[in-house]
Order: sequence, then C-alpha cells, then structure tokens
Amino acid sequence: MPAYNLSRPFSYSSLTVFEQCPAKYKFYYLDGIVKPQESIEAFLGRRVHETMEFLYKQVKTNGPPLFDTVLEDFHYRWENEWHSDLIFVNQFLSVPDYYDLGTKCLAWYYRKYHPFNEPVVELEAEMLFTIGNDDKYKFKGIADRLEDHGDGVWEIHDYKTSKRALTQRAADKDRQLSLYHMGLLQNKENVKEVRLVWHFMRVGITVRSRRDNDQLHYMTISIQKKINKITETIKNGGPFPAVQTPLCNWCYYWAECPVKTKNNPFVKS
Ligand code: SF4
Repeated sequence: MPAYNLSRPFSYSSLTVFEQCPAKYKFYYLDGIVKPQESIEAFLGRRVHETMEFLYKQVKTNGPPLFDTVLEDFHYRWENEWHSDLIFVNQFLSVPDYYDLGTKCLAWYYRKYHPFNEPVVELEAEMLFTIGNDDKYKFKGIADRLEDHGDGVWEIHDYKTSKRALTQRAADKDRQLSLYHMGLLQNKENVKEVRLVWHFMRVGITVRSRRDNDQLHYMTISIQKKINKITETIKNGGPFPAVQTPLCNWCYYWAECPVKTKNNPFVKS
C-alpha cells in the first residue's frame, strides 16, 4: 500500500464520493488516477458557472451586460471547451438540448435578477478552513458568490443546473452550504448572520435557508466523524469497497473497479 498524503484538505465532493463508493474515492483521491471523461451534465454546469462569473465581472467593470453578450460568452465557452471525451448517459437528450438548457438557465437568471445590483464581494471564492477550528479537519470549499450586505450580514450563493430543486426541508439540512457557512465564519471578519441561497436555474427556483448555532454544532460533529472514518480507513490501507449503484454509469473507473467485468458502455473506446 503506498503512503498516501493525509494532509490534503477534504472537500464536499471528496466526502460525497467516499460515501457513494469508497473504491472510486481511492482511485481518484488517493491513487490520483485522472480520467479524461466528463459527463455532459458536468460540462453544462461548468459552462453556466463560468458565464455567471463573466456576467458579474462585467457588472463590476462595465455595468450590466446585454443578454446577447451573456449568450455570446456561453456560446464561446461551449464551443471552446467542447471535447471528445464527453459522456452522454441520458439518451433522450441531444447536444442541442443540453445547449438549450444552458441558455434557458441563463435566461431565467437574467430576467429574474437584472440589473444585478447585489453587493458582491467575491466570485468563485476559495475558502480554506477547519471543521470545529481543529487542524485535524482541514477543509476546502469554493463558493460561487459571496455578498456582504452590511452590519455583519452575508450571503452565500450557489448556482445549480440540476434537474430538480431542493425542497425547503432538504435545503434546511443541506451539507454543502452548511460547510461554506463554516468556511465564511473563518475567512471573513465581522460575520454575524449568514444566509444560504441556491439558484436552481434549470427549474427557475431560488431557495433560501439559514443555520443556527445548534445546527452548525451538529454538522461539525457529523463531519468530523466522517473525516475520522476516512482517515482511519486510509491509515489501515482499506477497506475501500466498490458500491454499485446507478451512479456507476457516470463513473469512469470500470477498468480499475474490482466488481466490473467490462468497460463502461457509455464510454466510447
Ligand atoms: S464503477 Fe461503480 S462500483 Fe466501481 S468504482 Fe465506479 S462507482 Fe464504484
């Protein structure tokens, strides 16, 4: 068993991957096997996020752009970043369908939030922090947008291009933005109140939530336990079981996976 780097910060994605399939976690986060494949859903999400960043940079430097300018940016990125290792699991949607979904996401946001006069202080804000102020639990998160509303009130905004929105109940328990809330508390001065905001762009819904100190406390304990479990597993050299679920269709480690006997049928060889 090679000596793995245990000082690397955890992230929302790495915790989620370990929970879904420890074998996949090992291939990517420990063995460092990087595959060229990318799902069309991830590709679409990245391009929309990049264009949202462009939009707010434009607002800051030149004022609100025309919607045509936003679309041109999206189009340029879509064309420029397109590659031959994109994976289409959903056979019912074509490339133009996905492109249209991207434009629909941006059109909804543009109509709803123009002229974009939110008090933005950072885009794609990288936050390094520890869970429970304990250096044993290093964490890294990237918030799509941070806003400072004055008097210690902050907002964390997250863009989603998923098919469904979180229900209010699910948003009130959501782990990702709870973690970013913790990150914000350690990365910014004078944070008294944090509002969590999701924009489900594909379905045109904005969901808002907050966390109180008790919720943050329980989240801290729960995340520390998860990190302890992963760290122990790594130190013990395993086990890293392969957990088969429908998500295997979006996994590109079938060649390495001990329970798969063929290649991922969606990956063209
Ligand atoms: S193919 Fe499925 S079981 Fe195998 S590593 Fe990937 S997600 Fe895990």
